Amino acid sequence: MEVDFIRKAAQPRLLHLRGLPEVMAMTDIPQNTDDSSELPKRSDPDSYEEKWYKHWVENGVFAPDPDRDAPRFSMVIPPPNVTGVLHMGHALNNTLQDILWRYHKLMGHDCLWVPGMDHAGIATQNVVEKQLMAQNMTRHDLGREKFVERVWEWKEQSGGTIKNQLKKIGVAVDWDRERFTMDEQCSLAVRTAFKQLFDDGLIYQASRIINWCPRCKTALSDIEVEYEDEDGAWYHIKYPVMGTDDFIEIATTRPETMLGDSAVAVNPDDERYMHLHGKKIMLPLVNREMPLITDEYVDRTFGTGALKVTPAHDPNDFELGQKHGLEQIVMMTDEGIITNDYPAYAGMDRFVCRKQIVKDLDAAGLLIKKEAYTHSVGHCYRCSVTIEPYISLQWFVDMKTLAAPALKAVAEGRTNFVPGRWTKVYNTWLENIRDWCISRQLWWGHRIPVWTCADCGKQSCDIEDVAKCQHCGSENIAQDPDVLDTWFSSGLWPLSTLGWPNQTKELAAYYPTSVLVTGFDIIFFWVARMMFFGMRFGVDAPFHDVFIHGLVRDETGKKMSKSLGNVMDPLDIVSQYGADALRFTFVSQGSMGQDVNVSDERFRSSRNFCNKLWNATRFILMCAPEPATVDITQLNPADLDIKDRWILSRAREITDSARTLMGNYDLNEAAQAIYQFIWHDFCDWYIEMAKAPLRGDDPGARAATETILHAVLRWSLSLLHPYMPFITEEIWSHLPGTQGIILDSGFPEVAFEQDAQAGNTIALLQDVARAVRDIRANLGAAPQEKIPALLRTDDPDKAKALNHLAEHIRTQAGVSDLALNADLDAATKYMSGLAMGVEVFVPVDEERTRQEIARLEKSMANARKDIEKVDKKLSSQGFLAKAPPEVVDKEKAKQAELLADIGKIEQRLAMLQNA
Ligand SMILES: [Zn+2]
Ligand SMILES: [Zn+2]
Repeated sequence: MEVDFIRKAAQPRLLHLRGLPEVMAMTDIPQNTDDSSELPKRSDPDSYEEKWYKHWVENGVFAPDPDRDAPRFSMVIPPPNVTGVLHMGHALNNTLQDILWRYHKLMGHDCLWVPGMDHAGIATQNVVEKQLMAQNMTRHDLGREKFVERVWEWKEQSGGTIKNQLKKIGVAVDWDRERFTMDEQCSLAVRTAFKQLFDDGLIYQASRIINWCPRCKTALSDIEVEYEDEDGAWYHIKYPVMGTDDFIEIATTRPETMLGDSAVAVNPDDERYMHLHGKKIMLPLVNREMPLITDEYVDRTFGTGALKVTPAHDPNDFELGQKHGLEQIVMMTDEGIITNDYPAYAGMDRFVCRKQIVKDLDAAGLLIKKEAYTHSVGHCYRCSVTIEPYISLQWFVDMKTLAAPALKAVAEGRTNFVPGRWTKVYNTWLENIRDWCISRQLWWGHRIPVWTCADCGKQSCDIEDVAKCQHCGSENIAQDPDVLDTWFSSGLWPLSTLGWPNQTKELAAYYPTSVLVTGFDIIFFWVARMMFFGMRFGVDAPFHDVFIHGLVRDETGKKMSKSLGNVMDPLDIVSQYGADALRFTFVSQGSMGQDVNVSDERFRSSRNFCNKLWNATRFILMCAPEPATVDITQLNPADLDIKDRWILSRAREITDSARTLMGNYDLNEAAQAIYQFIWHDFCDWYIEMAKAPLRGDDPGARAATETILHAVLRWSLSLLHPYMPFITEEIWSHLPGTQGIILDSGFPEVAFEQDAQAGNTIALLQDVARAVRDIRANLGAAPQEKIPALLRTDDPDKAKALNHLAEHIRTQAGVSDLALNADLDAATKYMSGLAMGVEVFVPVDEERTRQEIARLEKSMANARKDIEKVDKKLSSQGFLAKAPPEVVDKEKAKQAELLADIGKIEQRLAMLQNA
């Protein structure tokens, strides 16, 4: 498929560039100016990205100053797992934070961004257990103390790879304040918070049904369970009623748990079972007598209306069992193996046992039927093994008490979600929250600071390790073996990183933090928990704003995953295109908080933007290496040419709107506005128009132009700096008259007012140029070819403006002879266009028109041939049935593209034929 006449714009259409930006490339740099700029010919990120990061860190640029009297801006990094390696999600998350940090720094605020890492309980323990496994060892061979030492060793040697990877994308974190959730300061916060909650009766220990991973052998909180639809079955079983020939039909999806049944329950008003009230049931296979109990809880309309009650293996049965004083019979071990209490099944895995039990029931004539059924089954989020509801003694946090103030803080607007739609997600979860199971049966983590006395049986809790029972003084005490859920320590992150429980200067200056930037997937895990801990232990909610962003997806909008093979490594992108290009791509599309689709084309496009800025700088430094002044305030707008007034007006407009947009987290909109301004207004138009006065013989005009070029370039760099910190810093360092780093330059202040008249006039110029370029494109004119043009207007103001701008129209639209309001020649054919009421005519020569029509017809024939092939494929049932969906999608995209091409060719043919 080749349609060669369509000149695709160099930049993606999403930025709505008008005209053809690459037509007027900056090739005509004056020949006899020698290269005194010291700016290399090409922008090479390798030569400056690392250099500047080192410079910033070594010069303490990222350090805050709590003593300075300035508005504060503070953030804590979402701590990546110590086992983590940088992926696109981290890169996006940290880029957004970095943009905000640099924006506020430019605004003159005192800025702090605290870095750190999470000890990641299960994940880290798994890494080291795997290493042991390779040596045929388990953690039990080492023992708890040695194992934990081993994990610390691993952490020192191999953990935290992600830290250095984050540096590559430029994060402005204060490394001197780096924290780790298991370091001394964070551990003190954990112990203190635990003790306060324990003393207040908000932490308690209870036997409950929890989510149990038989592989990791630990409890999991509700949100650590991932649900997936699986094929299962309802097994209908006969439970004989003793002393009768009757039976009760029970349906279950987990027949193996019948080994732990301690009753059958029916609704007291269910007429089907009234005659059986008071009878006993004989549990099949086990031959255990159990009561038939009645309870309003049983839903008569569901299934047979009779339930087997297994208090130790189902959360609802657990509650029913407590109410009726039923025995809690544990029928499997914590590894999911049937216990020795059942000789026929002892030692079997739970799923093997399920099959065996069904077989045995069938053999005994007790299996009524098996109905296939798809249901949602919980899996461990770490290892994917099926979760078992399991009774065990665990620690819980009373959530009702803690959730209320966290809800209130958001309701009262002390913390705002951006975008606001996430408020509802947060509220719904906290309003329906269940108590949080915080104990984990792991060795790596914060050990629960509770000691039980063997003599008096009471528990002691303290911040320091307890040596003697706080109740009877006995030394015969033992610490709880469990550790805390990892999210207990990360929930304290905004407090612990700033020094809490100590009342530090940092805590006073930077808490509450300004904003938390995070993905929506951890609103429950993390945001909500920081909120309720912050409300409990801090002076207020931990952040003013919570800025929620989307996911990074591939170019077709698919989630990146190993199985799809579409994962991109942010470090590869950095080495290929530079960190600035990676960063800019994240914000160059979509709107606030939406998912981001990335592709090589988009990264290339961002890199092109870097190159454009670089080339513009080289041009300015060659043509105006030493401007008489870089002090723009010396210029009086009344003395300036219209193009100068226009670019200054645009600069004012863009700095005002960028300041507001960035302050409101509209980082994408601000980026697009800045991009438009730099690429389109400044590079494509102003610099092109500046060539005339730079070459001209009016020293006043030349001096003013030089000053404006430098001023606008500096503003552009400052505006762009939060997005592209490296290239802007590098260019800044080459500009005459700049001192220090760009971050110290402040957010640009443009003192010139907006100038509507200049704006309208230049808009007319741009529209006329666009109209001529459209015709050029339709004629198939080569970029360097000049064509004549004729403009007509009855409006004297427009005529005057066009007259004044004639030279710019000629250069911008590649026009040889430009005539204004001349008569059309009746013997000549013209192609025409319209620009803000001005008629645009270009004479065409008939031979040329004929050639172009012939070429287009050939293209059309080729396109038709191609589309025929695609149509045929897409209507073939065989193809549709066999081809993978990506291939089908690709063919459909090809079809759409060809159709669009054919449409364009038809349009152009019509124009040429009517000319
Ligand atoms: Zn697991
Ligand atoms: Zn005691």
